[in-house]
Amino acid sequence: MDVATAEAQALRLDEADPGHRHLFHVPPADGGEHPESAYLAGNSLGLQPRATRDELLADLDDWRRLGVEGHVEAGRPWLPYHELLTAPAARLVGARPAETVVMNSLTVNLHLLMVSFYRPAGERTRIVIEDTAFPSDSYAVRSQARFHGLDPDATVVRLKPRPGTDTLGTEDVLDFLAREGHTVALLMLGGVNYLTGELMDIPAITAAGRAAGAVVGWDLAHAAGNVPLSLHDWDVDFAAWCSYKYLNSGPGALGGVFVHERHLGNPDLPRFEGWWSTEAATRFEMTPESRPPATADAWQISNPPIFAMGPVRTSLELFDSIGMPALRERSLRLTRWLERLLEEVTADRPLQVVTPRDPARRGCQLSVRVGAGNAAELTKRLRHEHGVVADAREPDIVRFAPVPLYSTYHDCWRAAAALAATVGQYSTKGQPR
Ligand SMILES: *Cc1c(COP(=O)(O)O)cnc(C)c1O
Repeated sequence: MDVATAEAQALRLDEADPGHRHLFHVPPADGGEHPESAYLAGNSLGLQPRATRDELLADLDDWRRLGVEGHVEAGRPWLPYHELLTAPAARLVGARPAETVVMNSLTVNLHLLMVSFYRPAGERTRIVIEDTAFPSDSYAVRSQARFHGLDPDATVVRLKPRPGTDTLGTEDVLDFLAREGHTVALLMLGGVNYLTGELMDIPAITAAGRAAGAVVGWDLAHAAGNVPLSLHDWDVDFAAWCSYKYLNSGPGALGGVFVHERHLGNPDLPRFEGWWSTEAATRFEMTPESRPPATADAWQISNPPIFAMGPVRTSLELFDSIGMPALRERSLRLTRWLERLLEEVTADRPLQVVTPRDPARRGCQLSVRVGAGNAAELTKRLRHEHGVVADAREPDIVRFAPVPLYSTYHDCWRAAAALAATVGQYSTKGQPR
């Protein structure tokens, strides 16, 4: 694959496999010769669907028109509004509607789920995460350990890749569980690692973790809307995800939660409660004791933010209408195309793709190691000199995520060509492994 001559091929591929870019607003380019950005940062913040604005304005108009009566008289009445999100969110992650609720933000939800599912006892006190866990997850589990009066350094285990490798293999997790599973209270990994783009074998790790006696939860921030999921059938205990990355629901958008059916309605599970934890039918009897429903709704606390739910609903409708299987097919084609281009760009340069080569072990993101200290500066130049929006993770990773909904083969070509044009000018300190 010769990057210099691949543009014509990219344009032909876009004609044959056009995706759904017309449904999104693509930001104008900040530099380079093309009017639109080559936006490959949908793993960080997804683009705005064209439908979102009008849908949101309709909700705002209901408030203007109806005041408090909007709770029952709005076009989409506010009291049961969150229920509109439940079924499509459940379909997205392979869950039953009773197992799913959209609420709060991701880290908040992880905490609320750990209230129920991190219950250290006896020698089983440890929480296992990956060494490259997103910092928020690391802070969350360390603070949970402290909350239980435990030493976070002794309680939180950070699984590292084998020496000489960049990604944590499924085997590494299974080996750890075989050795030390009896000490693990909670195994909570990222479904797709935010840094390396590695997709974990969620069913195999869940089965091994549960067989070892641990509770198994997943952070699906980079998996939801990126790869097909079957949380119910995989017997996952709980999961949480955000909606502003692949789910295109806007900055800080509401997250989603999954709690497996076997835990629903269990009165022995501690939960933090508020008036939205009680069943809807008797909520306004205003009794001092709650009656939590036997659904994931019981993990809700406050009345939900209507204007924040509109963009999630609009986005989930898009995923529903296209379907994850079709998106995954296109995702595999796009990412393979980008990979072939990057193979050429990285050959004979101090650059390396650290994402697994096996498409079954990754989503759409490819992470490139660019040499220590270069990531931020390089990413800035990609944007300002070439209109290519990628995302830096200091010190040395630049992430490119061709998102099947709106990214194009030509975007991938632009990214590879821009990287080739820019990278020659960087030092080779911090040689890639
Ligand atoms: C994006 C991301 C978060 C962000 O957490 P918020 O609570 O939504 O701010 C947390 N964990 C992971 C793994 C992420 O990728």
